[in-house]
Amino acid sequence: MAHDRALPSDAGVPDRSELGAPLVVLDKVNKHFGALHVLQDIDLTVHRGEVVVVIGPSGSGKSTLCRSINRLETIDTGTITIDGVPVPAEGKALARMRADVGMVFQSFNLFAHKTVLENVTLGPIKAKGLKKSEAKALAMQLLERVGVANQADKLPAQLSGGQQQRVAIARALAMKPKVMLFDEPTSALDPEMINEVLDVMVSLAAEGMTMIVVTHEMGFARKAAHRVVFMDGGQVVEEAEPETFFTTPESERAQDFLSKIL
Ligand code: ADP
Ligand code: MG
Repeated sequence: MAHDRALPSDAGVPDRSELGAPLVVLDKVNKHFGALHVLQDIDLTVHRGEVVVVIGPSGSGKSTLCRSINRLETIDTGTITIDGVPVPAEGKALARMRADVGMVFQSFNLFAHKTVLENVTLGPIKAKGLKKSEAKALAMQLLERVGVANQADKLPAQLSGGQQQRVAIARALAMKPKVMLFDEPTSALDPEMINEVLDVMVSLAAEGMTMIVVTHEMGFARKAAHRVVFMDGGQVVEEAEPETFFTTPESERAQDFLSKIL
């Protein structure tokens, strides 16, 4: 697997010292699926402006961690706060919080029967009460930014996977989230489309977006991440700066994992 691809974009990512206050805080989070203890005492603090890459074997709990942050999964014990506020259990408060947490999945999850433009305007109109014209202006600006403005009137199926994923990023950004979660955003893409998505993510990072990114793309981690969090078996096993993690992983589990993906 060639995960260490070069990224053409050379945008610099803000220095660690420029990071802000804690934005997403998980404190002793536990979650079971039946007998399976899928998140085990997870402590994780992501600061404003920080880019955290979460890496680990299949089944280690990475997706469950992401999904717990915007309560697509409920947790058993522990707390998750976003910008100092515990994630609400339900209702309008939960909907408001979800608008603050942009999520991009492996499968693009666009609305198949809506145009690209409609996919991006829907959230701002419904959840934020923007006028159609305002939402359209915002959407076109974001589609421009991710390089697919010329596809605005097409249906998702008419776009390549890389274009669809960039639309999914624009759609998430349209809600003006405080943090963006990416769960293996390039895993379903043909190799030649991976960089066009990673480039957009690197530029977001460079602009100071707070990001939690599940990916095995080490080129991205090296370029954009402040920190790599290695998960295995429902636990955070190791955390380090990317260069340190990839060159001198401490735990045997991380060494073993890296030997398989490198
Ligand atoms: P990762 O994203 O690291 O591959 P996941 O968070 O998807 O891991 O899954 C962690 C573990 O939880 C896996 O063993 C998976 O099979 C299990 N799991 C995930 N979702 C469910 C579910 N809805 N019901 C039961 N088990 C689940
Ligand atoms: Mg997963």
